[in-house]
Amino acid sequence: MGKFNINHFICRSDNYGVIISDKNTGLTASIDAPDAEIIDQELKINDLKLTHLFITHKHLDHIEGIEYLKDKYSCKVIGPEKEKDEIPLLDITVIDEEYIDFSGSPIKIIETPGHTLGHIIYHFEQDNLLFAGDTLFLMGCGRVFEGTHKQMFESLEKIKKLPPNTAIYFGHEYSLANAKFAASIWPDKHIKKRLDEIESLRAQNKHTIPTTLDAELITNLFLMGDNTSLKRKLDMGDAKEEEIFSELRTKKDTF
Ligand code: ZN
Ligand code: FE
Repeated sequence: MGKFNINHFICRSDNYGVIISDKNTGLTASIDAPDAEIIDQELKINDLKLTHLFITHKHLDHIEGIEYLKDKYSCKVIGPEKEKDEIPLLDITVIDEEYIDFSGSPIKIIETPGHTLGHIIYHFEQDNLLFAGDTLFLMGCGRVFEGTHKQMFESLEKIKKLPPNTAIYFGHEYSLANAKFAASIWPDKHIKKRLDEIESLRAQNKHTIPTTLDAELITNLFLMGDNTSLKRKLDMGDAKEEEIFSELRTKKDTF
């Protein structure tokens, strides 16, 4: 395995807390700050000290713990330049295609407007890790609150271009609802199999995080707008990928 240990745990009701730490240097980052107390408890259990906070977007369920954690650990808080006025205590703001370093690993910042206009995701290029916040979920994608469907579609296109073996950590445990939606649209064999797997994991209260890009490419309908069978299922045989995305996003909003 790689040089990092990654812990994930549920915060609030369905947010994922994720902590990544370098086994050698001890440098430790939390992806977002959904719940200070639970993150702090995880750090203690694993004997870690928080050195970095990587914030994906401004929603309260991703930033509420910043103040407490920064006060306690004096960690560096990194977040999107475009949401700097709405995220407290940022030390470093970042923009699209900028690189930052974490424990010798280059992290590429990718702006993914759609869920919010300033949303960013963190791609650990050498480590094949992506922290996707509320842009991509297992078999789903974030609700489009601020951007347009076109923007969200283009944001997901950026993720599709990453290496297929990328492990993707996402912001919420929505996998079961997403899989049920996908199966309701197109009960393809890959989708049905994954729905079964997720049902059994969730029945045991197990996490579905992380996913991988190659699994998403064959089960996440929001990435599959060029699939002819899917297009036929939607009666949209001649539609463009972007239109398929938009139709699915609209359907999911009321599913
Ligand atoms: Zn959000
Ligand atoms: Fe969220």
